[in-house]
Amino acid sequence: MTTITRFAPSPTGRLHVGNIRTALHNWMLAKQAGGRFLLRIDDTDAERSREEYVDSIRADLAWLGLDPNGEERQSARLAHYEAAFETLRAAGRVYRCYETALELELKRKILLGRGLPPIYDRAALALTEADHVAKAAEGIAPHWRFHLDHDEPIAWDDGVRGAQKFDPAQLSDPVVRRADGSWLYMLPSAVDDIEMGVTDVLRGEDHVSNTAVQVQMFTALGGPVPRFAHEALLVGSEGKLSKRLGALGCDAFRERGIEPEALVALLARIGTSLPVEPIADRDALVATFDLSTFGRAPARFDDAELERVNAAIVHQLGFAPVRDRLPSGMDEAGWHAVRPNLSHVGEADEWWRLVTGPIAPVDFTDEDRAYLDEAARLLEWGDDPWHALTAALKQATGRKGKPLFLPLRRALTGMDHGPDMAELLPLIGENEARARLESAAR
Ligand code: GLU
Repeated sequence: MTTITRFAPSPTGRLHVGNIRTALHNWMLAKQAGGRFLLRIDDTDAERSREEYVDSIRADLAWLGLDPNGEERQSARLAHYEAAFETLRAAGRVYRCYETALELELKRKILLGRGLPPIYDRAALALTEADHVAKAAEGIAPHWRFHLDHDEPIAWDDGVRGAQKFDPAQLSDPVVRRADGSWLYMLPSAVDDIEMGVTDVLRGEDHVSNTAVQVQMFTALGGPVPRFAHEALLVGSEGKLSKRLGALGCDAFRERGIEPEALVALLARIGTSLPVEPIADRDALVATFDLSTFGRAPARFDDAELERVNAAIVHQLGFAPVRDRLPSGMDEAGWHAVRPNLSHVGEADEWWRLVTGPIAPVDFTDEDRAYLDEAARLLEWGDDPWHALTAALKQATGRKGKPLFLPLRRALTGMDHGPDMAELLPLIGENEARARLESAAR
């Protein structure tokens, strides 16, 4: 059976790192199995859903290279939920309730006060047909709950958490439909997973109790129950997903100069027993994906670690993927020369200025000025002018090590450190290099 996974964000905000991680893992799970990864826009909450967020979700997935093999949206599938609801109603698996939010809150408080779990008491099940007619006459529409079957424990073998078992009597019958006819998340999601052939539901552990309820919905709807896996949540270095981190979309990372491959490499591995490595090759990363390496402890997202992975990824990036982001005139040789010095691609500008000039003037001692004068005279242009120059100077002056190299670097770039001079010098060019050496010698 083809593996089909889905990422099902509600478009009520930007994707944050926690959502991105879930999307990535679903993408990897499908990719590894040669299956399909679906994007499902969970937009049954018309009031809070926004089209701009749908667009930003698509754009973020594209930037991350997590292309879905199909897209669905719940607001276009309301007829399917209606049909499923009718099935459940005919089977007596949904029932009408009228408690107000306030009444429910009061019931909860009473139970909690007695030290009991705040489970819905099913009072509405006792209502007679006459009661329902009376409510309707008052103009009060019911909301609907799913009737959990209390006869057998709910069990599944979780891809991350192992064997899971729930006593349905310890769960409230969930509200599936509001009095205004709109849907809550749980039923539409189960309907979609069945109809879209989803084989694997991989999501955050905050959904574990939803899964318990949904397992019964899948069965009641006659569909196969997918495999479930619940990953531990992602937290920031502060120990929780901070407001800032929880609100950052992909463009915040992009603007900071974070490469999608860095974010992907990090999010693929945190919270697993595999080491975080700067793996830019997506197929290589996918090949190592393994739910059994996922731990139960929260995955820690550390900005400093992201920066380290980013720098290491930048050092591997080829010219083609970055060419549009490089300073004008910078070619492949230029990119290769500066790449090892960058933490972010955007810093290429700073280093490229060493090639194009003007460079910062440096004060030299008389002795170094004489040395640089000699350098200007000995400069000869060939395949490898830097090694030719330093070899000639070593012989002519007896200098070696730092006194041999540093004045040259400073005269040629205005700096004490930077890209490999052997790569930089050919880019600076013969005339400009000689002019810089002569000017430093003056
Ligand atoms: N829309 C739900 C959420 O964002 C989807 C959860 C799920 O993957 O089923 O929490």
